[in-house]
Amino acid sequence: MQWQQPIPKEYMQIPREQLLARIEQRKAEMGRRLVILGHHYQQDDVVRFADFLGDSFQLSREAAKVADAEFVIFCGVHFMAESADVLTAPHQKVLLPDMGAGCSMADMAQLDDVQDAWSAIAAACQADKDFKLVPITYMNSTAAVKSFVGEHDGAVCTSSNCDKILSWALGGQKPAEVPHTKIIFFPDQHLGRNTGYKMGYPLESMVVWDYRQPNGGLTDQQIRDATFILWKGHCSVHQLFRPEHVDDIRLRMPGVKVLVHPECRWEVVQKADLVGSTDFIGKQIAAAPAGSKWAVGTEVHMVQRLANAHPEQTIVVLSDCQCLCTTMYRIDPPHLLYILDNLAAGKVLNRIQVDPFDTYWSRVSLQRMLDITAGKPVAPPPEPRPQRGIQAAALRVLPLETATT
Ligand code: SF4
Repeated sequence: MQWQQPIPKEYMQIPREQLLARIEQRKAEMGRRLVILGHHYQQDDVVRFADFLGDSFQLSREAAKVADAEFVIFCGVHFMAESADVLTAPHQKVLLPDMGAGCSMADMAQLDDVQDAWSAIAAACQADKDFKLVPITYMNSTAAVKSFVGEHDGAVCTSSNCDKILSWALGGQKPAEVPHTKIIFFPDQHLGRNTGYKMGYPLESMVVWDYRQPNGGLTDQQIRDATFILWKGHCSVHQLFRPEHVDDIRLRMPGVKVLVHPECRWEVVQKADLVGSTDFIGKQIAAAPAGSKWAVGTEVHMVQRLANAHPEQTIVVLSDCQCLCTTMYRIDPPHLLYILDNLAAGKVLNRIQVDPFDTYWSRVSLQRMLDITAGKPVAPPPEPRPQRGIQAAALRVLPLETATT
C-alpha cells in the first residue's frame, strides 16, 4: 500500500448533496476528456459517477477503448490502476483518487519474494532434466509480478478463465502423472487450489509456498512432489467466509442457493451451490426467477447493489461479518472531488505509471491470457524485446488483442 497525503480537511466536511453536485459538475466540464471507471466493490456514491462498472480487467479494457479520454480515474485499487495504465495508450493518464487504496492480496506477492521462490524451486528440482516451472498470476497482482510472469513464459488469469490458463500451463499433463511441469501460482492460494481441484488435481498435489519462511516452509522433496505451488496469499474479504456460515444460512433460509467467489476458501467452495467470478455472480442473479433466495459470498457493496437491483428476489451476504474491502472503501466522494478539482486547475495528482519494461512484459502475459482463452496459439513476444530503461513510446505500440475472456 502506498502513502496518501491527507486531502484538505474542508473536503471531508462538505455536505453529501453538495459534494455529489460538485463532482457531477466537474465531470460535465471535462466531457469526453475524462472517463471514470468503477469497480463492483465500490460504494454507491462513487459508482453513480462511473462511466463503466465492472471487474478489474473489464474496466481496463474499457479504458483502452475510449482513446479520446485523456484522463482515466480508476475507482478501484492500485493494481487495477496499474493494469489500466498498461492497457491504455501513452497519451492517457490513469489516476487513483486515493493512493492508499491498495489490495492486501496483491501486496502479499512482492517481486523480490517471487524471484527468491523461483530460484529455490529451480534448485530443488535441478536433478529432473524435464523439469519445467510455469508462473501464473491472478489479475489481482502488481504490474511487477505480471511482468515477471510474462518474462518467464507464463500468463495472467482471471477468476473466469483460470482453468483454461492452468490447462495450458500443464501442457496436457494429467493429474495422475509424475509432475515434471509445475505451476507456481500467485498470489491467491484459494483461487489456485479451487481451480486445480475442479480440474481433477487432488489437494495432495498442491503445496503452499509461505514467502515468510526459508524455502517457502517446504522441504525440497515436497516441492518435487507437487504439481501446484500455491503462493500463500489471500483476499482479506473472501477469506472471512467460513464453512459454518454456509451451514448456518441453510438452516436459517431454507431453499437458499449459496453462490460464492473462487477467492473463498476451498472448504466454503465445497459447500456452495455455485462458484464463479463477480461477472458470473451478477449473471446468475440476473437470470434467476422472482422469489429466488441467494446467499452470496463476496464483497458487501456488490451484494447490496444486487439486492437493490432485484427486489423480487431475496439476496443476502453469506455471513454477517464485515465483508467490506476496506482499501476500496478509501475511494470516496471527497477524494474523487479533490482529484477532479485539481484536474480543473491543471494539476494531475496520483498518476499511476508503470515503467516501460514492466509494461511490455505485463502486456505479453495479458496477451497470452487472451490468446489461450480464445483458443488461439500463443504467439512469441514481439520484437524488439525491451531493455530496462527503454522509452515508453517505443513499447506502447504493441497491440493487445481484445478477444473476449
Ligand atoms: S476484495 Fe480482496 S482481492 Fe479485491 S481488492 Fe479487496 S483485498 Fe484485494
